[in-house]
Amino acid sequence: MAKRNDRSKQRSLAEERINRLFELAREHSGEDGSFSATCIKHARVLAMKYRIRIKKPYSRYFCRKCNSYFIPGRNAKTRIYRNRVIVTCETCGAIRRYPLPEKKNTTEIPKNNAGNVMQKSNAE
Ligand SMILES: [Zn+2]
Repeated sequence: MAKRNDRSKQRSLAEERINRLFELAREHSGEDGSFSATCIKHARVLAMKYRIRIKKPYSRYFCRKCNSYFIPGRNAKTRIYRNRVIVTCETCGAIRRYPLPEKKNTTEIPKNNAGNVMQKSNAE
């Protein structure tokens, strides 16, 4: 019992450390790329050890190959091609693709128009 509690406590601690490491990586991304890469490397090792999934905003901020923190326009190239977001790491050349978020359907008929159609069909 105690062991299990300890593990969940350790996991939440690890989660906090991962978030902090990503914040550090962001804060130092402007000066030295290698420091933020080290932060991200540590965060990823922690996430693997405690089987924590790196959450969405963070998971897209770094290169999976060389761990560098992405600064769009400086070390990352972002393009949209065939409904996909393509992020290219300028440090090592790794490419990642994400699907574009789905757009909501805007061709729905407004309620007033639908009512008019009904009235017309009644008159015929
Ligand atoms: Zn890279």
